[in-house]
Amino acid sequence: MAKKQVKVIFLGGVGEIGKNMTALEYDNDIIIIDCGVTFPDESTPGIDAIIPDTTYILDNIDKVRGIILTHGHEDHIGALAYLADDIQVPIYGTALTLGILDHKLSMRRAEANMVTVEPGDKIKLGVFECEFIKVAHSMAGACALSIDTPVGTVFFTGDFKIDSTPIDGKLTNLQRIAEIGAKGVLLMLGESTNVERKGHSTSEKVVGRTLDTIFNNNRDRRITVATFASSNYRVQQILDLAEKYDRKVILSGRSMKMIVEVAASVGELKVPKNIIVESAGNLPYSRQLIIATGTQGEPMSALTRLSQGEFKKIVLGENDLVVLSSSPIPGNDKYIYRVINNLFKCGAEVIYDAMNDVHVSGHAYEEELKIMLSLVKPRFFLPVHGEYRHQVKHAMLAQALGVPKANIAIPEIGQVYGFSAKEMKRHSNVPSGATFVDGEMLDDGKSIINERKHLAENGLIVLLVSIDFKAEKLSTPCDILARGFEVTADVADGIKTLVEKTVSEINFSELEDRAELPRLIRKPIKNYFAKNRQFPVIMPIVLED
Ligand SMILES: [Zn+2]
Ligand SMILES: [Zn+2]
Repeated sequence: MAKKQVKVIFLGGVGEIGKNMTALEYDNDIIIIDCGVTFPDESTPGIDAIIPDTTYILDNIDKVRGIILTHGHEDHIGALAYLADDIQVPIYGTALTLGILDHKLSMRRAEANMVTVEPGDKIKLGVFECEFIKVAHSMAGACALSIDTPVGTVFFTGDFKIDSTPIDGKLTNLQRIAEIGAKGVLLMLGESTNVERKGHSTSEKVVGRTLDTIFNNNRDRRITVATFASSNYRVQQILDLAEKYDRKVILSGRSMKMIVEVAASVGELKVPKNIIVESAGNLPYSRQLIIATGTQGEPMSALTRLSQGEFKKIVLGENDLVVLSSSPIPGNDKYIYRVINNLFKCGAEVIYDAMNDVHVSGHAYEEELKIMLSLVKPRFFLPVHGEYRHQVKHAMLAQALGVPKANIAIPEIGQVYGFSAKEMKRHSNVPSGATFVDGEMLDDGKSIINERKHLAENGLIVLLVSIDFKAEKLSTPCDILARGFEVTADVADGIKTLVEKTVSEINFSELEDRAELPRLIRKPIKNYFAKNRQFPVIMPIVLED
């Protein structure tokens, strides 16, 4: 019998930055690492969220022993809001991670058995034993995972950076990682987000210093700082500056209010007493500070709405300074620049350039990735949490640091890699891809999205066709309703004549089912438009008269 292997199953988070989800399987046990979401773009109109395809997990649900969360970012926990009801297993994470998850679940009236852990804790799930290791990231509660399996240790870096001056004083636990590396690591899965960036990422503390200078130089103005709600260290520094410069804080944006509340309740945010107010009231501008969401130009976000003058109580003008303490996620540039343009139109001054050190990344740069690889010293290496090019670069880095080329692979979604103590082997793929959510999970999201695109590009023509079935002809000329398509009087006449002709030619006695009629009426109309290279969706509705 072939030796048993530990299998690593990629359900998301490779070839993309988003919807991270990986399963480890050994014999009768499966554990899931992270369960994230990706947000839609123009290619997925009207979709709320994109989550991993979990067919393989649901088909093997009896083997699943638990879900382990590395931290509370959407790309690591967001899909659980939709999947927790179907995957009823204990979920393990640190307090902030589970606090945020709990809020998400309650919004959808979902429930889960959540178990809070701390860095240093070990949990046993079937044959797997998982140790949580503190790492620095842009939010608190982030952990790397060292998972002992019957064939060796599997090490997940999770999202991390190496920050020597973190805001909470808790360093990435390099000492523990080195110990684990010294004992021998079979396989490492390393995050690749910033592999293209040379050097070392900047400490979060630098942002605080920059913001301090900005606050000091703008004492008379109202200040708005936009940042990610989940960046609790950033929010902490902004709150501390509010206290230093005697400003009251107005939180703008639902997720900002939620995460501030959750982070404060689990002790990851220290909110100075009485500093947060519901509204500015009669406070002078010099004493107001707004912390807002919307750093990516999201249409419904606080910052976008502020820039469009949609808030009655906050109207931006010459005495406003807006700081975007963030950088655009690639692809969002045009949305955020639209917001920045609008902020300038309001008369406000806007500071948004990453060159000003108003933002730093939470992900390791090249030198930090090298440190991690050197400490863990894995036998096998799989780069994850990146687009394909990031994974390739990270693979090259691992090779340069001594991992043999044959021991490195670039995983893609759906792929399965098996490991024994000495060998890596590809297994056949599992079902994979994306499940689209529009309120609920869509069974056939792909065709719905295609239909939406077709409608958006070509428009819709509805034909109300009243038929007198006794006389076997139209009872009145058909009515035409169009959306996103211009029907001129000539075209309307043409359609009416064509529908009348079509109906008159139907042999009603041979018609097996009246449900056939819309198809018979649609065909000639479709051809009529196709001649002009127009392809509106034609929807005949047959009414009996
Ligand atoms: Zn993250
Ligand atoms: Zn991430």
